Amino acid sequence: MNFADSEIVNSVMVERGMAPTDTPDDASVIFINTCSIRENAEQKVWNRLNYFRSLKKKRQGDMVVGVLGCMAERLRERFLEKEKLVDMVVGPDAYRDIPKLLSEVEDGRKAVNVILSQEETYADITPIRTTGNGVTAFISVMRGCDNMCSFCVVPYTRGRERSRPVESVLDEFKLLSDQGYKEVTLLGQNVNSYNHEGRNFAELMYRCSRINPEMRIRFSTSHPKDFPDEFLHVMREQHNVCNYIHIPVQSGNNEILERMRRTYTREEYLALIDRMREMIPGVSLSTDIIAGFCGETEEQHRDTLDVMRRVRYDLAYMFAYSERERTLAHRKFEDDVPEKVKKRRLAEIIQLQQDVATDLNRQEIGRRHIVLVEGNSKRSDEQLSGRTDTNKMVIFDKETYQRGDYVEVEITDASPATLKGTALRKVTLSDSIAEPVTA
Ligand code: SAH
Ligand code: SF4
Repeated sequence: MNFADSEIVNSVMVERGMAPTDTPDDASVIFINTCSIRENAEQKVWNRLNYFRSLKKKRQGDMVVGVLGCMAERLRERFLEKEKLVDMVVGPDAYRDIPKLLSEVEDGRKAVNVILSQEETYADITPIRTTGNGVTAFISVMRGCDNMCSFCVVPYTRGRERSRPVESVLDEFKLLSDQGYKEVTLLGQNVNSYNHEGRNFAELMYRCSRINPEMRIRFSTSHPKDFPDEFLHVMREQHNVCNYIHIPVQSGNNEILERMRRTYTREEYLALIDRMREMIPGVSLSTDIIAGFCGETEEQHRDTLDVMRRVRYDLAYMFAYSERERTLAHRKFEDDVPEKVKKRRLAEIIQLQQDVATDLNRQEIGRRHIVLVEGNSKRSDEQLSGRTDTNKMVIFDKETYQRGDYVEVEITDASPATLKGTALRKVTLSDSIAEPVTA
């Protein structure tokens, strides 16, 4: 989400006559786009700001440093008064105001705008995508969140939920298609709550999928409370909507889920997973899990491991619970699971996920997948990397293939995080649907 937001800020700055640079040393303005989701995300920002402070000193103060995003919203006073680290503090709904705020800083004042909006979606600002790979892009379709999960700071830092008009999303999609992009991820805190004047996410997805049959579409994130069959139908019928769903479970225990205010039970969640697998055979699933939430017992932790064993996720993002000010959990529950216990439970969760992912990835050996090439692999310029429809990273020898190609690849080797393969031929996405992609 921050990556997409930075592209909007990029556009606002270019409009003001500025241009992006490659290194902080060349910059006259540095913005750091921040995340408040967990304590360690914020810690990274403080470290980075200290580095910028030393850079600014070296340049005798001739540089503007601004903090954008969720930490700006949460910690504005601290940034401006106590820390004196920054010149500008800009919340997630105030990016349009950046040129005016910059002028204030140029006049020698500190500048702040952290007002949250009920309407702002930046629908009319075309993001400038200078840091991407030129093949895959994000489109933010909604902002904010109304779910109020008890552990989560997002509703406080990003404000109320609001959706962008369908037409503005379609226009941005068409532009990306014209620019040669091959894959778009539609983004929101809960894309299934997308609703613009009665038009829902299934409709938005369907209309996006019809724009260019050679463009893949992904989406993130979905909340398990509202994943309608109608959307699964769109996924099943539209060949270019990827068969991959990120569906965070958070915990496998009903009491903890209730305390987290997730509004579904473990049974409802597992039934939803069954439905997804029934409607979309071979669908790839990923999740988010929190270890050691307030009051979590050993037995409740084991319920989470049990759900992981039942679902067998292809991928998981796993975290130790980190208490956030203002949230319901902060006000109402005690963060009483000792740090050591949290870490041990998290390690168990990670180990189990690693075992499952290794096993699932080994089963891929011998199968064929259509891989969209995103660029050179990290390790070698002689190899390419890209992802399958099911979101698995595949590495294979470059030969004559290029970034942006769809290549049919036979999988020859697997690790928990990546697959290796042999390229067979270049294909189009539309041709490839006539043939089974698995051996
Ligand atoms: N809107 C998304 C989640 C966005 S935050 C959704 O509901 O799925 C991404 C993930 O961070 C969450 O799914 C959760 O697993 C984790 N997270 C959020 N708040 C947290 C906290 N206080 N401590 C630890 N992990 C947290
Ligand atoms: Fe946070 Fe819950 Fe909203 Fe996700 S759905 S952003 S976890 S409040």
